[in-house]
Amino acid sequence: MTNQHAHSRPRVLSGMRPTGKLHLGNYVGALQNWVKLQDSHECFFFVADWHALTTDYDDTSRLADNTLEVVLDYLGAGLDPEKCTIFVQSHVLQHAELHVLFSMITPLGWLERVPSYKEQQQQMPNKDLHMYGFLGYPLLQAADILIYRPRFVPVGEDQASHVELTREVARRFNKFYSLKGQPVFPEPETLLTPSPKLLGTDKRKMSKSYGNTILLSDDAAKVEEKIKNSVTDRPKLTDRGDPNRCPVGNLHQIFSDPERLAYITRGCTTATITCMECKALAVQSVNAHLDPIRERRRRLAQQPEKLKEITQHGAEKAAQAAEKSMVAVREAIGMLRLPSEKEMFSSQKALWLSNGSDSLPLRVPDSIAEANSDEERWEIRSNVWLQKVKQYSLTRLKDKRRVFITRKGKKVGVYDASKSDSGEWVFGLKDQPLNVLVLLAQDEERYLHDYVLPQVFLQKHWRQFDRTGGTVDIHLRKIGDATSLLLKQSNLPIQQYESDYSALQ
Ligand code: SF4
Repeated sequence: MTNQHAHSRPRVLSGMRPTGKLHLGNYVGALQNWVKLQDSHECFFFVADWHALTTDYDDTSRLADNTLEVVLDYLGAGLDPEKCTIFVQSHVLQHAELHVLFSMITPLGWLERVPSYKEQQQQMPNKDLHMYGFLGYPLLQAADILIYRPRFVPVGEDQASHVELTREVARRFNKFYSLKGQPVFPEPETLLTPSPKLLGTDKRKMSKSYGNTILLSDDAAKVEEKIKNSVTDRPKLTDRGDPNRCPVGNLHQIFSDPERLAYITRGCTTATITCMECKALAVQSVNAHLDPIRERRRRLAQQPEKLKEITQHGAEKAAQAAEKSMVAVREAIGMLRLPSEKEMFSSQKALWLSNGSDSLPLRVPDSIAEANSDEERWEIRSNVWLQKVKQYSLTRLKDKRRVFITRKGKKVGVYDASKSDSGEWVFGLKDQPLNVLVLLAQDEERYLHDYVLPQVFLQKHWRQFDRTGGTVDIHLRKIGDATSLLLKQSNLPIQQYESDYSALQ
């Protein structure tokens, strides 16, 4: 199923904190269900790295690594970036903006009475959790959810109260603000995840903080060791047991076929098999299930570029959906509007980057030295460039020398600049709606570097461009291999867009 089908499917959102590698409890409690949902719903799944900070603010040394581990666990378990959107929370800043706005209208009492507020403080007596971020995390969660205006939020039973708070916040927002009389946020429904019980190896709830987990990424030997050392429900060989109360029995219930489950259930309840035999069978069942997950995970872990691409595409897609909601939110509240991206660029479906298939350098011919005017130099450069992108069948837009149209009607603005004395290129753009912006920068060797900025990039950063009258000035600087656009508040690295023409497809 491709992303084009996404809009006809009900939208779903969920996420997990990156506090370490995911374990079987996370898998059977949520992830396994997400993998099914991606075929029937438009799914957004994120790694909630800001949420990890609400309790682990004092040690962030593993935050980035843990975030990637969770992405790997998601992908290993079978989430497919072709079917769902996978992203990291902090890569989509709109979540923070909505959280701030919600914090203006949410009574403190609502947050103080969320059950997990007190519970977690009691569970972590050695941690100072009297922090604003910790109190406000269910509100951040409400922002995470509502910003995508989903129909459903898949949760386990224990988190249903969080979704209830989210619904209350939506109602409150809608009470204060509306858009032409219409509510901004629909109230999402709880999609209860059927989560079979899974005890940890010590018979308590499986949880990282108890150190009783089996990780999705544990290798076969580790799984065997953990299962063999599990506590069981039969202290003595002659005791009868109950697989429902045994961690090993739980594993059979989830991972064994019905025949094997019936065999161990009979053997356990009549004390006719040994726990050792039962455990050996559980090891087989669990490892058979985890083998393909581990293999996918292992392969992806060796492709950091691919992971980067997946999270980057996910963030762009999520940001596009989130920004759509934020435009409505800002308007409903009545905030002073900046010219919206919509006015700058006609909104089209998101464009995805794929790393440079057309990365041959362009060389401008000697004749450029003899050109008499900037216009002639532009003609030479643009012709060189047009040779390169022949396959995309661009046509020049009538009366606009620097704007081309793709077969699919996308407007491509092409601007060039030669090297300036200060080691920077400066482009003067006409302020007009474009879907793709191509910057041609000729270096001293007469190589023409081509940066293809897709619509999603422009939408995200347009406000930062410096404008004077009818033109927009862009400064581009290359230091070593890195190229940055110098904008008002930031340097935006754009190296990755060099010769990446996927936006023209
Ligand atoms: S026989 Fe299996 S299910 Fe029963 S107590 Fe022993 S390990 Fe647990």
